[in-house]
Amino acid sequence: MSYLADLGEVYLAPNYKREPLVFVKGEGTRLFTDKGEEYLDFTAGIAVCNLGHAHPQLVQVLKEQAELLWHTSNLYYTEPQVRLAKKLVELSFGDKVFFANSGAEAVEAALKLARRWAYQNFGKKKHKFIALKNSFHGRTFGALSVTGQSKYWEGFEPLVPGVVWVEPNDLKGLEEAFDETVCAIIMEPIQGEGGINLLTQEFIYKAKELCQKYSALLIFDEIQTGLGRTGRLFAYEHFGIEPDVMCLAKALANGLPLSAMIAKKEIIDVLTPGSHASTFGGNPLACAVGCKVLEIVSDPTFLEEVDLKGKIIQEKIKALHKKYPEIIKQVRGKGLLIGIEFVIEVKPVYQELLKRRILTTTPKPNVLRLSPPLILNYREIDYCILQLEETIEALKP
Ligand SMILES: *Cc1c(COP(=O)(O)O)cnc(C)c1O
Repeated sequence: MSYLADLGEVYLAPNYKREPLVFVKGEGTRLFTDKGEEYLDFTAGIAVCNLGHAHPQLVQVLKEQAELLWHTSNLYYTEPQVRLAKKLVELSFGDKVFFANSGAEAVEAALKLARRWAYQNFGKKKHKFIALKNSFHGRTFGALSVTGQSKYWEGFEPLVPGVVWVEPNDLKGLEEAFDETVCAIIMEPIQGEGGINLLTQEFIYKAKELCQKYSALLIFDEIQTGLGRTGRLFAYEHFGIEPDVMCLAKALANGLPLSAMIAKKEIIDVLTPGSHASTFGGNPLACAVGCKVLEIVSDPTFLEEVDLKGKIIQEKIKALHKKYPEIIKQVRGKGLLIGIEFVIEVKPVYQELLKRRILTTTPKPNVLRLSPPLILNYREIDYCILQLEETIEALKP
């Protein structure tokens, strides 16, 4: 046990379950502890460090911006913020961008936007949100109120009222939930914290159709799925539809706090001066890095590689599934956002991989998530699969 880990336990709020590991350095797909041990990072800081740790081009941009300008407030324009907004708009369905600092804040902004847009266009009766069971949208009260897992609510109720729940991929339930009082539906195209559950094409089409029928907004929370993670720049591109509003965060500045809410002009224009704000939102340091991130991850060749790596890794895990059906139940995901559902509890699998110095996450008690930096190479994929197989062999009854 490390001294710093002990200190951390004394001085930090106990709201995280942390490993007694202290990381002091990162490089690409690797993390190094204070004891000089090397770990292969298949978490990417929970789908944040899509370009790996200490990416040279990002370090360079950050250093340059650090010497120029850190903060001005949003009373003025800064070059990195305007440039990033322009890039995001050019690369997506959207027309305008609001910047904040975290995923939950982007979700808050989207929910507030939907309420205000509906209020101004249809009056205050149109205020309900449809949200999906098993979803995750963040920890602030608004975001928590549309998060469909009651374990996150415990002790925090009452939540924001006006939320209607639908089971993911339940077409009939979706149809029944809609009426004129719904202002928006919010969904993750692939539920991340929910255990890597994919929404079906039919369900997403239906949601889009019902939004149009009832004049409601389709909000995509792409905080985990966006920015190349699934092999497309945005996961909505897999489905051939466009949302009205999209939330991005996690990978947007590869580890600096930055989030964005992107929407169509006629919607976002209800956010008139003073209606919503964020002191740090869109700060020059994070936005300068964000511009470089977008430049790299939007390259079609880069995205094709992510798609290919994702297919290869999934194929290899599927082979393991076939070989060990008594251990592995299912493999799900797109690109490099992969969930392995186990027949057994996932904790010993996670622990054994950790012993073998591979970092993974466990969004559900029976699901292992692999979300490596998108820059990982084929050798690292093979290595991870080999370690996974040896882990399964070691745990086999
Ligand atoms: C991580 C995440 C959030 C919350 O982001 P924070 O930056 O932790 O507030 C919201 N939605 C999804 C889909 C996420 O994966």
